[in-house]
Amino acid sequence: APPALWLFGDQLGPHFHSTPELRDREVVLIRSTAAFARRPFHRQKLHLVEAGMRRLAADLGERARIIDAPTYTEGLRRFGEPVVVHEPGSHAAEALVRRLHEQGVVESILPTPGFVLSKKEFSEWVANRHRYLMEDFYRDQRRRFGVLLDPNGQPAGGKWNFDHDNRRPPPGRSTLPVPAPWHPRENEIDVQVRADLDRAQREGAIQPVGVDGPRRFAVGHAEADRALRRFLDHRLATFGPHQDAMLHADWAMSHALLSVPLNLGLLDPLDVIRKAEQRYRDGTAPLGSVEGFIRQILGWREWIWHLYWHLGPDYLRRNEMQARRRLPKWWRELDADVIEAACLRTALAGVRDRGYAHHIERLMVLGNHALQRGYDPAELTGWFATAFIDGFPWVMPANVIGMSQYADGGIVATKPYAAGGAYINRMSDHCGGCVFNPKKRLGQDACPFTAGYWAFLDRNADRLRGNQRMRQPLNGLDRLSDLTGVVAQERDRRHF
Ligand code: FAD
Repeated sequence: APPALWLFGDQLGPHFHSTPELRDREVVLIRSTAAFARRPFHRQKLHLVEAGMRRLAADLGERARIIDAPTYTEGLRRFGEPVVVHEPGSHAAEALVRRLHEQGVVESILPTPGFVLSKKEFSEWVANRHRYLMEDFYRDQRRRFGVLLDPNGQPAGGKWNFDHDNRRPPPGRSTLPVPAPWHPRENEIDVQVRADLDRAQREGAIQPVGVDGPRRFAVGHAEADRALRRFLDHRLATFGPHQDAMLHADWAMSHALLSVPLNLGLLDPLDVIRKAEQRYRDGTAPLGSVEGFIRQILGWREWIWHLYWHLGPDYLRRNEMQARRRLPKWWRELDADVIEAACLRTALAGVRDRGYAHHIERLMVLGNHALQRGYDPAELTGWFATAFIDGFPWVMPANVIGMSQYADGGIVATKPYAAGGAYINRMSDHCGGCVFNPKKRLGQDACPFTAGYWAFLDRNADRLRGNQRMRQPLNGLDRLSDLTGVVAQERDRRHF
């Protein structure tokens, strides 16, 4: 028989194990206890990864074997025969797989089917490029894979980008009028996983954060397929316009909620893209929404993955803004109830209750707060990777170090995503019921985002002067008559 296929816990879909070349192989899944015990993962995330592996083992029946072992190396030793494996999703795992390959334990390393563009193709794309931009990459992805193109090779609808239509403030209501997302029905595997995690927690073998919840995301291919279908049939058409808006009482809005099944490797990204495109061709979803969604997967998701490898492990140590503050205890422990700022409390409560916050909450509330307060970017990266149910090593650096903290000095983002309360007020319904006033920067009710924004600019003015896009905000700073007071107030602020 050909060597068995060793799958990591984020390689669970049929495109990883049941293609014509692979479907006759035995499958080995190694449950590394060390991987779970080390860090404060969200309880629901431990549940998802654990349930995902057990679901696959159950689906594959006799073909699959789960091995419990302290480490992957020990697990393979127990298995006792050479294996093949797909490229894994972290620098550490890649180094391990290479070492095992040199030792003959891993017979060959297959390219990962978890992303549309291969690493080799990306290297060719990026070679000799002085400045690399997501927008250029995305257009080339569209051309290369023939997505949303007219027969003459031009973009469907005559435009590559419909972002302009997709930045509307929230509608004047507390929830978006869209059908609810797909929701799993828990099963026997969930019951077992919950009991095992309860025991591990009682015995101190794991120290998770967040609340245990009903499972909200897909862990098997059949479930992932249903979640995708529900999104395409009922939610894709409204995906675009309010992508950047936030509503206090609507955590899901029209978001896809597909990052978990995608990052667990349950869905083939190109298949997701083709199915979304078909909805546009059928006339069941408008182009702006379909393009917006495809941009997220064929553009952003691929971009973040390839930058992870391209920028290398040292990228995690970048700290261009010299931010050194430790994360506060309430943040690490997801203690949202001590927070008064309505936007921050809601986003953090979402992480506590679901291990999820949507993109704008991550970027413009959580990330924005961390940037303004000068939290250490490496520690923050670790927090996002463990507290979010869709956080995996490859997805963190470019999103957190780069996009949200500007700690790379402008490789991923062209300017820091720092914004005051006026932005949050325009894009959400949080400020109406908040104890802070987004218009105020001094005094008891000064909005921590508004005041924090000016304090951030003041602290980093010299570092940001060279950036054209920061000229206007820095000019605004020079005109503030009460700046000294604001900076002093924010330096000591413990009250958010
Ligand atoms: P939608 O908004 O509906 O988007 C559809 C899909 O596009 C997502 O499922 C995701 O697979 C993909 N996508 C879109 N943007 C990105 C991106 N920037 N990076 C990677 N994939 C993207 N995404 C994660 O998958 N895991 C993370 O741990 C994660 N951490 C983030 C941390 C910060 C500070 C920021 C700013 C972004 C982060 N993102 C992360 C990206 C994005 O916020 C999430 O992918 C998205 O919110 C997931 O929800 P959704 O499936 O409803 O996404």
